[in-house]
Amino acid sequence: MATPSQEDYLEFIWVLVHDKGYACVTDLAEMLGISTASVSKMVRRLHDDGLLTYERYRGFSFTQRGREQGEMLYVRHRTLEKFFTQLTAGPPEKVYKLVEGIEHHLDFDVMRCIERLSEYIEAHPEWWRCFLESADGRGE
Ligand code: CA
Repeated sequence: MATPSQEDYLEFIWVLVHDKGYACVTDLAEMLGISTASVSKMVRRLHDDGLLTYERYRGFSFTQRGREQGEMLYVRHRTLEKFFTQLTAGPPEKVYKLVEGIEHHLDFDVMRCIERLSEYIEAHPEWWRCFLESADGRGE
Protein backbone atom coordinates (compact mmCIF):
# COMPACT_ATOMS: atom_id res chain seq x y z
CA MET A 1 0.00 0.00 0.00
CA ALA A 2 1.83 3.11 -1.22
CA THR A 3 -0.04 5.98 0.42
CA PRO A 4 -2.85 4.72 2.61
CA SER A 5 -5.95 6.89 2.52
CA GLN A 6 -8.04 8.08 5.43
CA GLU A 7 -10.39 5.18 4.69
CA ASP A 8 -7.55 2.67 4.98
CA TYR A 9 -6.62 4.09 8.37
CA LEU A 10 -10.16 3.88 9.68
CA GLU A 11 -10.53 0.34 8.40
CA PHE A 12 -7.25 -0.83 9.96
CA ILE A 13 -7.94 0.95 13.23
CA TRP A 14 -11.32 -0.79 13.35
CA VAL A 15 -9.62 -4.17 12.83
CA LEU A 16 -7.07 -3.45 15.60
CA VAL A 17 -9.70 -2.24 18.05
CA HIS A 18 -11.93 -5.19 17.20
CA ASP A 19 -9.12 -7.75 17.62
CA LYS A 20 -7.12 -6.27 20.50
CA GLY A 21 -9.47 -3.80 22.14
CA TYR A 22 -7.22 -0.86 21.29
CA ALA A 23 -5.09 0.62 18.51
CA CYS A 24 -1.73 2.33 18.79
CA VAL A 25 0.52 4.19 16.40
CA THR A 26 3.18 1.46 16.33
CA ASP A 27 0.73 -1.31 15.38
CA LEU A 28 -0.84 0.84 12.68
CA ALA A 29 2.54 1.77 11.22
CA GLU A 30 3.44 -1.92 11.06
CA MET A 31 0.14 -2.90 9.43
CA LEU A 32 0.33 -0.14 6.85
CA GLY A 33 4.06 -0.47 6.26
CA ILE A 34 4.75 3.24 6.86
CA SER A 35 6.54 5.38 9.45
CA THR A 36 5.10 6.13 12.88
CA ALA A 37 5.49 9.84 12.04
CA SER A 38 3.10 9.47 9.08
CA VAL A 39 0.66 7.55 11.24
CA SER A 40 0.76 10.20 14.00
CA LYS A 41 0.03 12.88 11.44
CA MET A 42 -3.01 11.04 10.11
CA VAL A 43 -4.23 10.21 13.60
CA ARG A 44 -4.18 13.93 14.44
CA ARG A 45 -6.11 14.66 11.25
CA LEU A 46 -8.74 12.02 12.09
CA HIS A 47 -8.97 13.56 15.54
CA ASP A 48 -9.53 17.00 13.99
CA ASP A 49 -12.25 15.48 11.78
CA GLY A 50 -14.04 14.14 14.86
CA LEU A 51 -13.38 10.46 14.09
CA LEU A 52 -10.84 9.70 16.80
CA THR A 53 -10.18 10.97 20.26
CA TYR A 54 -6.48 11.50 20.62
CA GLU A 55 -4.45 12.44 23.63
CA ARG A 56 -0.77 12.98 23.27
CA TYR A 57 1.24 10.17 24.90
CA ARG A 58 -1.98 8.31 25.74
CA GLY A 59 -2.98 6.92 22.36
CA PHE A 60 -6.36 7.16 20.72
CA SER A 61 -9.76 5.58 20.36
CA PHE A 62 -12.79 5.98 18.14
CA THR A 63 -15.57 8.47 18.51
CA GLN A 64 -19.02 7.01 17.82
CA ARG A 65 -18.90 8.34 14.26
CA GLY A 66 -15.38 7.02 13.70
CA ARG A 67 -16.36 3.57 14.93
CA GLU A 68 -19.37 3.46 12.61
CA GLN A 69 -17.30 4.55 9.62
CA GLY A 70 -14.51 2.10 10.47
CA GLU A 71 -16.95 -0.77 10.71
CA MET A 72 -18.67 0.21 7.46
CA LEU A 73 -15.29 0.28 5.68
CA TYR A 74 -14.31 -3.08 7.15
CA VAL A 75 -17.64 -4.62 6.08
CA ARG A 76 -17.21 -3.13 2.59
CA HIS A 77 -13.78 -4.71 2.32
CA ARG A 78 -15.05 -8.11 3.47
CA THR A 79 -18.06 -7.99 1.14
CA LEU A 80 -15.78 -7.24 -1.83
CA GLU A 81 -13.33 -9.98 -0.84
CA LYS A 82 -16.16 -12.47 -0.70
CA PHE A 83 -17.58 -11.37 -4.05
CA PHE A 84 -14.27 -11.35 -5.91
CA THR A 85 -13.39 -14.74 -4.47
CA GLN A 86 -16.68 -16.04 -5.87
CA LEU A 87 -16.05 -14.33 -9.18
CA THR A 88 -12.38 -15.14 -9.76
CA ALA A 89 -11.71 -18.04 -7.38
CA GLY A 90 -8.32 -16.32 -7.04
CA PRO A 91 -5.91 -16.90 -4.15
CA PRO A 92 -6.58 -14.72 -1.07
CA GLU A 93 -3.50 -12.49 -1.57
CA LYS A 94 -4.53 -11.70 -5.12
CA VAL A 95 -8.14 -10.97 -4.16
CA TYR A 96 -6.92 -8.79 -1.27
CA LYS A 97 -4.78 -6.68 -3.60
CA LEU A 98 -7.65 -6.35 -6.05
CA VAL A 99 -10.01 -5.18 -3.30
CA GLU A 100 -7.45 -2.71 -1.94
CA GLY A 101 -7.22 -1.21 -5.41
CA ILE A 102 -10.93 -0.66 -6.03
CA GLU A 103 -12.71 -0.40 -2.68
CA HIS A 104 -12.42 3.39 -2.40
CA HIS A 105 -14.19 3.94 -5.70
CA LEU A 106 -17.46 2.14 -5.03
CA ASP A 107 -20.41 4.06 -3.68
CA PHE A 108 -23.15 2.72 -1.43
CA ASP A 109 -25.55 1.83 -4.27
CA VAL A 110 -22.95 -0.22 -6.13
CA MET A 111 -21.95 -1.93 -2.88
CA ARG A 112 -25.58 -2.84 -2.21
CA CYS A 113 -25.83 -4.43 -5.71
CA ILE A 114 -22.60 -6.37 -5.19
CA GLU A 115 -23.77 -7.54 -1.79
CA ARG A 116 -27.11 -8.73 -3.20
CA LEU A 117 -25.42 -10.49 -6.12
CA SER A 118 -22.98 -12.16 -3.76
CA GLU A 119 -25.86 -13.38 -1.57
CA TYR A 120 -27.70 -14.63 -4.65
CA ILE A 121 -24.62 -16.54 -5.80
CA GLU A 122 -24.33 -18.12 -2.37
CA ALA A 123 -28.00 -19.12 -2.39
CA HIS A 124 -27.87 -20.49 -5.97
CA PRO A 125 -24.59 -22.36 -6.39
CA GLU A 126 -25.91 -24.40 -9.35
CA TRP A 127 -26.87 -21.26 -11.24
CA TRP A 128 -23.48 -19.73 -10.52
CA ARG A 129 -21.61 -22.86 -11.63
CA CYS A 130 -23.52 -22.78 -14.95
CA PHE A 131 -22.59 -19.14 -15.39
CA LEU A 132 -18.90 -19.73 -14.66
CA GLU A 133 -18.79 -22.68 -17.03
CA SER A 134 -20.42 -20.73 -19.85
CA ALA A 135 -18.09 -17.76 -19.18
CA ASP A 136 -15.17 -20.18 -19.50
CA GLY A 137 -16.49 -21.28 -22.88
CA ARG A 138 -17.09 -24.71 -21.36
CA GLY A 139 -20.90 -24.29 -21.24
CA GLU A 140 -23.24 -27.21 -21.93
CA1 CA B 1 -9.28 -2.38 2.68
